[in-house]
Amino acid sequence: MKDSALLELSGVDVHYGDFQALYGLDLAVAEGETLAVIGANGAGKTTLLKTISGLMKPTRGAVRFAGRDVSRTATHKRVRGGIALTPEGRRIFGSMTVEENLKVGAFGRRPGPWTLQAVYDAFPLLAEKRTRRGGFLSGGEQQATAIGRALMSNPRLLLLDEVSLGLAPVVIADIYAALPAITAKGTTVLVVEQDLTQALAVADRVQCLLEGRTVLEASAASVSRAEVAAAYFGTG
Ligand code: ATP
Repeated sequence: MKDSALLELSGVDVHYGDFQALYGLDLAVAEGETLAVIGANGAGKTTLLKTISGLMKPTRGAVRFAGRDVSRTATHKRVRGGIALTPEGRRIFGSMTVEENLKVGAFGRRPGPWTLQAVYDAFPLLAEKRTRRGGFLSGGEQQATAIGRALMSNPRLLLLDEVSLGLAPVVIADIYAALPAITAKGTTVLVVEQDLTQALAVADRVQCLLEGRTVLEASAASVSRAEVAAAYFGTG
């Protein structure tokens, strides 16, 4: 890790009723770092993001953000503290233009480097479509708008859920091409992915989940795709 952790989960269990989705999960993301959490369907990735953003509360263990225990802190307070979630499925406003959608993200924003221009610099495809309504955007443009909207709040930690879901490979590459510009502004990123290739290409570290448990944690540069694939499918 580059620095002391901005986000740290220790020994986190999460249940849906009687069903346990996460088992004693430890995870840390340093300020400025990009962590990719990977795993197959049902591995617990979305549950992890819900636990970080406060939509689910751990039944055991702790979530610390910026040095504070936020395990019991409400979602809106975590947002104010600098945690932004771009949910799976995007959810932008179809009747509003790209630019209006981005401005919604600036409501109550923290001070920081993200402006409309900075978002357009990171995502040139949005600059060209700034007056287009959300409902007329392609899936990739909607995804970029959703990420841009989250950035407009100047988050310290950007959580990205399944960026590549349902998008064509060329569009996925466009979205991921923006990540260096995002981290260059000091924004810490935790990305949840099923796509191993993308995860390994963009992340400093990868953590692989299988049925709610960590089965691999490694620096992206030091691990082979085969090792990650074996952990992912539980054949390692
Ligand atoms: P996906 O890629 O399909 O989103 P995931 O890795 O994000 O998968 P989760 O959605 O976190 O996985 O689900 C982890 C486990 O928890 C799965 O077994 C799932 O069936 C279960 N689960 C998720 N949401 C609920 C819920 N609301 N009630 C009961 N079980 C749930």
